[in-house]
Amino acid sequence: MPEHIETASAEETEAAGAALAARLRPGDVVLVSGELGAGKTTFVRGACRALGVTVPVTSPTFTIGQRYPGRVPVSHLDLYRLGSLGGEDPGLLEDHLGPDRVAFLEWPEAALPELPDAAARVHIVHRGGDRRAIEVA
Ligand code: ADP
Ligand code: MG
Repeated sequence: MPEHIETASAEETEAAGAALAARLRPGDVVLVSGELGAGKTTFVRGACRALGVTVPVTSPTFTIGQRYPGRVPVSHLDLYRLGSLGGEDPGLLEDHLGPDRVAFLEWPEAALPELPDAAARVHIVHRGGDRRAIEVA
């Protein structure tokens, strides 16, 4: 059953990420979709904190992904620019995924058609102002 959460601040979206993180296991991949500024990175930040990541969690800008040490190691990928990279490296995703780590993928649609199996799919909709609607399936 998909879960629907309404948030009214970045902190509430971080808390929603933390709640999902409590259910994750090493090897899990979470797909996080939604328009620019929807709050994908904010959600992932909250999840990372709950997984014991203490370094700053920001948008991977010049790389497609970042790895963070935590109680469980975490990968955070943003595939927004993958299309323009020409997809020349098919091993790009595999480098960041593994049975020992949790991975969050922003802009998963850019990875089609070889998207990994997902433990959860998160979709965030901007509702204006600071309000967001989050679906976790
Ligand atoms: P994305 O990764 O989807 O592009 P970000 O998480 O980087 O989005 O940015 C979301 C922005 O919206 C941040 O500046 C955040 O502080 C702000 N914001 C305001 N209200 C919310 C909310 N309810 N949930 C998430 N982010 C919010
Ligand atoms: Mg982002």
